[in-house]
Amino acid sequence: MLCPNCQKEIADGSRFCYNCGAQLASGATPPAPVSPAPAKRLMRSSRDKKIGGVCAGVADYFDMDPTIVRVVWLLAVLFGGTGLLIYIILWIVLPLAPAVISVGVPTTSAHV
Ligand SMILES: [Zn+2]
Repeated sequence: MLCPNCQKEIADGSRFCYNCGAQLASGATPPAPVSPAPAKRLMRSSRDKKIGGVCAGVADYFDMDPTIVRVVWLLAVLFGGTGLLIYIILWIVLPLAPAVISVGVPTTSAHV
């Protein structure tokens, strides 16, 4: 390869020209940046919902049991009253998660 700076022949894959000392771009490829994990989105659950899917969606987001979220939420509604308001706000604000279309798995009847 030729040095773009001094136009002299240098070894392939060199990072620096040993004639003029110029740094060469065409050296070792820089390591690919580690792509961050796809951001988890807070969405209402469309598959596991009792009212608006908010509890299941929140449970999904925090990796919790939807039942626990519902119980805590219900307690917040009964004892504070703010839980209901938060629920309605989230119900309006949160997008509904796309429903997972379950493809019918063909039943294996070959061994009958
Ligand atoms: Zn050079």
